[in-house]
Amino acid sequence: MTARLDRHLTLSLFRPLSRTGWVKADPSVPVLMYHSISDDAEKDVPPYYRLATSPQRFAEQMNWLADAGFRGVALDEALAALADGEASLEPLAAITFDDGFRDFHTAAWPVLQNHNFTATMYLPTGFIGAQRKSFHGKECLTWNEVRELRAQGIRFGSHTVNHSKLHDLPWNAISDELKLSQSHLARELAEPIVSFAYPYAFPQEDRRFSNRLAELLRGLGYESCVTTVVGRVRPQDDWFNLKRLPVNSCDDEALFLAKLQGNYDWLGSAQRLVRQVKRLTGQSAPRGSETSAP
Ligand SMILES: [Zn+2]
Repeated sequence: MTARLDRHLTLSLFRPLSRTGWVKADPSVPVLMYHSISDDAEKDVPPYYRLATSPQRFAEQMNWLADAGFRGVALDEALAALADGEASLEPLAAITFDDGFRDFHTAAWPVLQNHNFTATMYLPTGFIGAQRKSFHGKECLTWNEVRELRAQGIRFGSHTVNHSKLHDLPWNAISDELKLSQSHLARELAEPIVSFAYPYAFPQEDRRFSNRLAELLRGLGYESCVTTVVGRVRPQDDWFNLKRLPVNSCDDEALFLAKLQGNYDWLGSAQRLVRQVKRLTGQSAPRGSETSAP
């Protein structure tokens, strides 16, 4: 999607459709998916796949979110409101960060505090240490910083131990990734860990895999699993297969608001179709991508 077809269709087709009332408003909740808040250029990466949001753009996005009437919350608060049918009373947007980068603490957290927003961070526990470690060449949080953020209201979930491609692993290794990351987080934070983020593109076309993964997560006491599948969360959705909205520096006001309002949800169906076709024709999903191919 180098020509930014996703952006073009969202703004020129799906947004006008929703304005004419063809796409009905519903009590869905947007779950924003961030990775790094930094000025990483990602020059050779097409806009859709970029993972960095510049500090300046992030501050703008949180202003747009607040101006649109949304309160930014941790995932569990958004899910509780959805379950209670309260989501339509006060517009909530869950804000999530994957990979445990240090720049959350330095660049994102002050902005969130200005708005009285909170968020959920998903940590690959093998890259969080008493001493600072790095993941993909970027510094990660330390356990002291994680505890400090938790004391100030940030929620934490598991993003496995090693940030492995779970779909490629045998089930006993998958089980270890889910279990050991959960117990490590629980030990460091002295509380139960109930949320999980699937690393890399979620294999949504493999129903046997996603059903068994959900079963495994439920058995370990997890209550939710967020994925890279694009869309907002609807009240009837399966909490072990939650869609998110990827956000990065390329999300200007028009595209960011269109995503919040549901005008990007069509991409979830397009993703599913593409993945099913690739599976039928024997093509594999792109390797190493943190977002699902559109
Ligand atoms: Zn990740």
